Amino acid sequence: MEHAGAQQGFLLQLKNGRWVIDAESDMNDDNIKVLQSIDIASHDILSTALVDHVARTLELVVLGSAASEGNFTDDSFIQNHQSKSILCLPLLNQGKVSGILYLANDLINDVFSPNRVELLKLLSSQMAMALDNAMLYSSLEQRVKERTHELVLAKEQAEAANKAKSQFLANMSHELRTPLNAVLGFSELMSTDHGLNDQHKGNLDIINRSGHHLLQLINDVLDMSKIEAGKTRLEPTNLDLGALILDVTDMLRVRAEQKGLRLLLDQSSDFPRFVRADGPKIRQILINLLSNAIKFTDTGGVTLRLDASNGDPDRITLRGEVQDTGQGISKDDIERIFQPFEQLITSTEQKGTGLGLAITRQFIKLMGGEISAGSQPGKGSTFYFHIRVEPGKAEQEQVIEERGIRRVTGLADPTQPWRILIAEDQLENQLLLKQLLEQAGFQVRIAEDGEKTIQLFQQLVLQ
Ligand code: ADP
Repeated sequence: MEHAGAQQGFLLQLKNGRWVIDAESDMNDDNIKVLQSIDIASHDILSTALVDHVARTLELVVLGSAASEGNFTDDSFIQNHQSKSILCLPLLNQGKVSGILYLANDLINDVFSPNRVELLKLLSSQMAMALDNAMLYSSLEQRVKERTHELVLAKEQAEAANKAKSQFLANMSHELRTPLNAVLGFSELMSTDHGLNDQHKGNLDIINRSGHHLLQLINDVLDMSKIEAGKTRLEPTNLDLGALILDVTDMLRVRAEQKGLRLLLDQSSDFPRFVRADGPKIRQILINLLSNAIKFTDTGGVTLRLDASNGDPDRITLRGEVQDTGQGISKDDIERIFQPFEQLITSTEQKGTGLGLAITRQFIKLMGGEISAGSQPGKGSTFYFHIRVEPGKAEQEQVIEERGIRRVTGLADPTQPWRILIAEDQLENQLLLKQLLEQAGFQVRIAEDGEKTIQLFQQLVLQ
């Protein structure tokens, strides 16, 4: 402006189809006002007719005495302000208009001499390029901001959906377990009935086995949703690990032998009997790996190798290997099988959810360990894992018995009248508990809500 001799200068840009003032400066005022986006059509700041003309023709207009000569003498702004020198220059970059420069001097005529105009014309393409770059940069910045915001929203939505799914699965699993417990409870109860014929016994067995299978699936889904909701915690107790391992291998040996397979336990002498760890989770890890090995092996056998290293007095690293002589897993599939719901289609016996290994890996991670697998397709697979546990105490009373479920046959002292009050609102549960407890020799009363429980309790105590 100073060099051109202008008093006022405006940089105009086209926004949403309208020409707006985006930068403005006045020689009487040192401030340059930027990014105001003043709509020229609704403000009496400059000659809109002149801007429209330049925008249309893309040609420079220089007026030496605007109110008295040239094509814009009739313009109301020019007349009202008795405008003198005006220069209106399109800023072109590769033939496209990036903006318009509008300079004015209302004190002196003919300030925009040919020399000055020439210099401005030279500068105009630089200005156009600078403007285009600035616009591109700011629109990029805007897009990055928008995209980041969209991503944050999408992430929040995905997390909320995942939480809702886990919550739903947890609720559903619970709802499914309640009636299933009644099915399992009653079928077990009936199987103790000596009056059953062989066919009925066989049928009950099927109900029971299918029920247990269903329960396993539901428990897997529940475990997985708990893990995904971040609700799985370690619950260490003093544990007879030796007994736990014998119990698991005894249980699975039956299944292996039914398929004509050997199940071997190869335990190093360093492997501790008593540890402080989460017994149910260790049990589940072993059951998952051994049952898979048995499930995917048709001839030969399965070996469980156990070893320990005891460098740190507060921490023992337990190492395990489950080796089978089964169908094996191809190299490409080995990482995939640890993902939830992944099952390889090659196996003929596709019972299961595909959650076992995903849960196993998460439990092992919780215990500060890792699991991996190696395999030779057609020859067999080996799963390797390690976990960290604390040394345990050998005192018997501190060790939680890790034995399998055993059947109650009766009360130790049947001459004593043992009375039990059951508070339970579900009919199926009432009946099941009543029958189970009566079979063992208890005297049972049932109340279906809190109030009745208190009433009955008082009656029973007063009796
Ligand atoms: P599930 O046993 O319920 O299908 P898992 O997560 O335990 O689910 O296992 C996922 C898949 O990995 C299995 O379906 C099977 O295809 C493969 N797999 C697991 N263990 C073995 C094994 N020992 N030998 C061959 N394939 C296996």
